[in-house]
Amino acid sequence: MSGGKITMKIRIEEIPPGGLQVEVGEDGNRLFADDPELHFEEKIRSRLVLNRVGHSVNVSGKIKTKLTLQCGRCLAPYSFLEDAAFDVEYRPASEVQLRGEVELAADEMDVLYYSGGEIDVDELLMGQVAEILPARPLCRETCRGICPQCGENRNRRECGCVEEVTDPRLAKLKELFNKDQER
Ligand SMILES: [Zn+2]
Ligand SMILES: [Zn+2]
Repeated sequence: MSGGKITMKIRIEEIPPGGLQVEVGEDGNRLFADDPELHFEEKIRSRLVLNRVGHSVNVSGKIKTKLTLQCGRCLAPYSFLEDAAFDVEYRPASEVQLRGEVELAADEMDVLYYSGGEIDVDELLMGQVAEILPARPLCRETCRGICPQCGENRNRRECGCVEEVTDPRLAKLKELFNKDQER
């Protein structure tokens, strides 16, 4: 295995028979420039081990990223730190063109395609970050969210509001009652 260098594209012919190990550190804010909601606090760090198998390349990697997300419950920003491992297989894009269709190998690792004899590391990292990101970001599992009545962040202060009545008929009555009181 030969040592790593910092690069954004890896030429497949440069992967030696014993495999290639590469360390990358990429600016996530540059990679995701089109996604202004993502604020990376640190570089995306990744270690890739590439091995050629015929015309394919197996990539096993580790990725570490830290970014600021907004909690879906209390809307406060929080730091999201994640370490993940992944395995992908790169096949030549020409293989797809020959067959005329993409053959999905659902049983095994993720299959990606390379063209021009090189692997686009930026694209790989972006795909892996997208898999790591939580569908519903939470600052913590026990986040108590925002009070729907007074707007207080209930993680910070107990506002003491009583839960809203959910029965629409009762809600209507309550509304009328409140109007009466305002007069
Ligand atoms: Zn929260
Ligand atoms: Zn409240």
